[in-house]
Amino acid sequence: MSKEVRVRFAPSPTGGLHLGGVRTALFNYLFAKKNNGTFILRVEDTDQTRFVEGAEQYIVDCLEWCGISPDESPQQPGAFGPYRQSERKPSYRQYAEQLVASGYAYYAFDTAEELTAKRAEEPNFLYGQKSRMQMRNSLTLTQSEVSELLAQNAPHVIRIKMPTDEQVTFTDMIRGVVSFDTNLVDDKVLLKADGMPTYHLAVVVDDKAMEISHIFRGEEWLPSAPIHLLLWRYLGWANEMPAWAHLPLILKPDGNGKLSKRDGDRLGFPVYAMNWTDPKTGDLTKGFKELGFMPEAFVNLLGVLGWNDGTDKEIFSLEELKASFSVERISKAGAKFDFEKAKWFNHEWIKAASVERLALSVKSELSKSGIEVASDEKLAEVIELVKDRCTLLPDFVAQTSYFFTTPTEYDSAAVKPKWNADKAAFFEEFANTLNIELSAVELEAAFKALAERKGLKPGEVMLPLRIVLVGGKFGPGVFDIVKLLGKEETQNRIAKGIVEFNS
Ligand code: GLU
Repeated sequence: MSKEVRVRFAPSPTGGLHLGGVRTALFNYLFAKKNNGTFILRVEDTDQTRFVEGAEQYIVDCLEWCGISPDESPQQPGAFGPYRQSERKPSYRQYAEQLVASGYAYYAFDTAEELTAKRAEEPNFLYGQKSRMQMRNSLTLTQSEVSELLAQNAPHVIRIKMPTDEQVTFTDMIRGVVSFDTNLVDDKVLLKADGMPTYHLAVVVDDKAMEISHIFRGEEWLPSAPIHLLLWRYLGWANEMPAWAHLPLILKPDGNGKLSKRDGDRLGFPVYAMNWTDPKTGDLTKGFKELGFMPEAFVNLLGVLGWNDGTDKEIFSLEELKASFSVERISKAGAKFDFEKAKWFNHEWIKAASVERLALSVKSELSKSGIEVASDEKLAEVIELVKDRCTLLPDFVAQTSYFFTTPTEYDSAAVKPKWNADKAAFFEEFANTLNIELSAVELEAAFKALAERKGLKPGEVMLPLRIVLVGGKFGPGVFDIVKLLGKEETQNRIAKGIVEFNS
């Protein structure tokens, strides 16, 4: 590749970050890293009506959580700043004016009321080839009228003049040759009355100014591509145009359309990377992070949404994704989002994670439930024992809390009706003779042998043992639990359990 690879993730800071947005960021990041390039965060905040306090920092935090922080960003500027479009405002007008001067764009003086009236009259109204000559703009007014209006600072926008009967064609890195008929595209606003550029102008001017080499963005931007392509051409930069790749959509679980935040709410799963609180309404939308996803798992599941390495391999660390990522293997077709599968990824990552990696998260989950862990060593042993049973990080609470606090409630419905004095005597003797030096396997053998000597079937006493130790019918091997609880605690719990079952 001749040109240095520079890619950008260019979100508008308008709210929570959809997992599709994170996937776009990830693919940009992977492409940059694969090619020794630079990954840039550019904040596209030119639409001041949609500006949301805190949304930029939230995006930065999400990227950091995923481990894909940008090399250049508003927080860490490089040589191409500023990295917020609102701070680049003075740079745009000259290009819009240049386009007017060269006949590719025009001033439009129509007021909001006039446009509203027009739309009411013609519900499918589009400002473009068919209608532009009936409107109030520099194509229909005389030059002196236009000069006068400009001199009076009359509110106006600048619109692109879409050419008639042209095919705009480019080669998308994923889709191949894509063509658009210019007759079907309206005259988009490039510069707004407040002097701010619209997305279309800003995206082109900034991609040029920031020397962006490749653009990875969602398929929803494909219809905008002809406008951008024409702007690159009309501004005289056609030879420097970046290569484009429009990433496949992330679809609803049933494959019917794009996955939206509303689908998540409806189907009961998160769509945002992290918790997002709307600063105006205070409404909280749950994110993958807080639900208990490991960032490794989240990145992994996004990495294979619309991409594979050509084999059946599904588990990829970020390092592995960096090494194997290739644009050729991004699919054209939309990728269905399956929350059960997402959880499967997390489960796999928890199983594979080291105890050290999990300890901090588990500790914080436990502490949210009011359980403080005194011994890190014990916590490590407990995590090792139960991690295969946890799908989401909060599952560790139920799976580990009984190691740190004696159960106060017992799921004894299956035990009590069959409880009798023989069983009580058996448990007393087991507790009194408990040799904690034995291994879990040896303890089990001793337990079964004692049961047989007492004329009890081992199966009859296993469940009561689990319930007195755990409180419920779950958890890892019961003699592993005995080993970890230690002699005294096991004895105490058996004694307490006997009282409970006798009552
Ligand atoms: N600001 C656009 C967005 O919010 C960027 C689209 C693009 O990458 O061109 O996604």
